[in-house]
Amino acid sequence: MLSKKIRFNSFLIIFSLFVLFVCSQSIFAKTTASVNQFNVVFPVENHNQIIAQQNFDKVEIKTIPLKGNLYLLEGEGGNIGVSVGKDGVVMIDSQFAPLSTKIKSAISKISDRPIKYLINTHYHFDHTGGNENFANDGAIIIGHDNLIKQMKIPHSIKILGMEIPASPSNALPKITFSDTTHFSFNDNQIKAFHVAPAHTDGDIVIHFADQNVIHTGDLFFNGIYPFIDTSVGGSVEGMIAAIDKILPLCNQETIIIPGHGKLSNRQELITFQEMLKTVSQRVKEGIAKNKTLEDLIKEKILADLDEKWGKGFLTSDQFLTIAYESLKNS
Ligand SMILES: [Zn+2]
Repeated sequence: MLSKKIRFNSFLIIFSLFVLFVCSQSIFAKTTASVNQFNVVFPVENHNQIIAQQNFDKVEIKTIPLKGNLYLLEGEGGNIGVSVGKDGVVMIDSQFAPLSTKIKSAISKISDRPIKYLINTHYHFDHTGGNENFANDGAIIIGHDNLIKQMKIPHSIKILGMEIPASPSNALPKITFSDTTHFSFNDNQIKAFHVAPAHTDGDIVIHFADQNVIHTGDLFFNGIYPFIDTSVGGSVEGMIAAIDKILPLCNQETIIIPGHGKLSNRQELITFQEMLKTVSQRVKEGIAKNKTLEDLIKEKILADLDEKWGKGFLTSDQFLTIAYESLKNS
């Protein structure tokens, strides 16, 4: 299985690496080669401790103009989308709390207006960690009904060995919706819509129709195996179905902000979905033959995919475990 006993000094090395790599697309690439040498479940830690130990000092927030008044902010954690204009700043996701000052500084260079609204794509702490800081400055947080449900309670993410505490009340959304909602900010017609459980049970997609820009949240990890939160209803099949809802909105020119990874487009989203379909098919075939997860890991059924997809923050075996868990009862 994934878990094996490790010596204490190895633990320190691995844990240090984990602290560096967690939810960081820029650090993913640098540390994964080392992390992947160890086939382990990471130790259970309070995520606040992890974040406290993580060195955010060196993180730079990079501002990338998209189209018109829309921008992408890259730092650590989930990619941030920003709309600026006469109505103030609308931002999508807030990364980690220690980065809030840098994020505010980056936004102040593209707008002199206050941050009015913060839309969360889902509840994970690498997308909502800064919520409290922005809310304290007056931002109104918006998300799916299940965003507030999940943020109010602690979570165990077993595959990463993480215990996530409930969020503070100020970090919670003030406005939630169940299916679809529309905003008209800064002359952007923004449609936000929920998809059936995919990455979590509270995922939303944000579509700037006139600008042809889409923020997918973590329904799309560009170029790496995705984490899927099976503890709250996420599944490989749900991810595939969610992408089926996004693709009809896209054409050759669509700019796609993935939850993690570089700025993207329709073709890369299709490639990501094809990978998920391939993995799903192979795992289902194994399950149909009564194979266990251990059998499939031993057979290395994702070996040919690992070169392209396995250099992110999940090892091949971790992703196979997620896929197997999510498909065995489907
Ligand atoms: Zn996530």
